[in-house]
Amino acid sequence: MKNPSPAGKVKKGSPALSQLIINTYHLLYGYELEDIGKSHIVVENGVIKEINHGFRRDADYTVGAVLPLPVNAHTHLNDYRVPEHCIGYNLSTYAGSKGVKHPLIQLIKNPILPKELAYVMAQYSIVVDYQEHFWRCNEFREELSGYGVKYIGLSRPTRYDLEEIGYVLKNCDGIGISNPLKLPSWVVIEYAQISNDKIVSAHVSETKTMEEHGSLHYLLNYRVKPPHIVHGVYLEDWEYKLLADEDIVLVVNPRSNLWFTGKLPRIDKALKYGVKVAVGTDNAGCFHPDVWVDTLLLETIYKDIDPKIFLEMTIINGYYAVKQKPLIIREGEKAYFMGVDLGIANDRSGNIYGSIINRVIWSPYKIFVKENNLYIHTVKYHFKRLNGA
Ligand SMILES: [Zn+2]
Repeated sequence: MKNPSPAGKVKKGSPALSQLIINTYHLLYGYELEDIGKSHIVVENGVIKEINHGFRRDADYTVGAVLPLPVNAHTHLNDYRVPEHCIGYNLSTYAGSKGVKHPLIQLIKNPILPKELAYVMAQYSIVVDYQEHFWRCNEFREELSGYGVKYIGLSRPTRYDLEEIGYVLKNCDGIGISNPLKLPSWVVIEYAQISNDKIVSAHVSETKTMEEHGSLHYLLNYRVKPPHIVHGVYLEDWEYKLLADEDIVLVVNPRSNLWFTGKLPRIDKALKYGVKVAVGTDNAGCFHPDVWVDTLLLETIYKDIDPKIFLEMTIINGYYAVKQKPLIIREGEKAYFMGVDLGIANDRSGNIYGSIINRVIWSPYKIFVKENNLYIHTVKYHFKRLNGA
């Protein structure tokens, strides 16, 4: 029985992991994320064989909390290659169709998955990427599959013709519309067709102008069926109701919204109308693509809302955003979960959901179980005290 040993990097998939036993102080069970407390989980041949109370003497690892893997429901991985270039620019001059990021990501093509980005990505079961270059979806998919991450690339054509739209769908998993208001109506009609069996989603109501010109309704009027929309910062009350009625997940990106528009999505209103909310990180070059940072920001700002709701957004609702079944922790399910250390909150937390959100980023180790693969990410914290002579 041991803590995951420091390796200073992600240790990739131990082959043929036939059995793994993990002791944990907290385990978030099932869809309800009920904390069953001090317990152990046994994985055999990639399946959760047993979950029971108490520690086992023969455990391979002991961790602070075991929870489902998060989903990053919206990012743009390309601009990770050109970090912090959004400083000094606004939304339009940075990410707009003539924004500075587009020539930059054309100019700097590599590496698409630098090591430190891979380590952040390794925690996800799914990453939803608005991929500006549809010809790169396969590269990202392949790189991320090495870490057991399912890549969902939503892209767009560089010009509007059916042949190019065909290429997008051949390479990627669907369409990610940057600004619906810029689309000619025949393209929206085409996307409506595509949305019958592929994911079509869009940035919606990110700015006041997008809201005033009806970005959401333009799509819905032509019968586009997005499983999720992104941002929704300026949505009005009746539009939240519409999202709930149509079962459209709202993917919020609070850091990006604060940075570009100084305004946050109204989580309180979304919840009031019964909208499912998931969390994304948006432009990876501006906002480090760790979804826990945005989850923590939401939890901090909306302090009157139960932290468990924010945890659900990140580890349950993200799956609904892309029409997938959440990978919950329950006997008989395929083994997908993570183990983290919460420090002294392991055994004396005032609110375990709050502790996870507050501490997961700084866990000295994270272990990710993905069926037969175990990935271990450890961080060595060096502290040296220099005494003055
Ligand atoms: Zn975006």
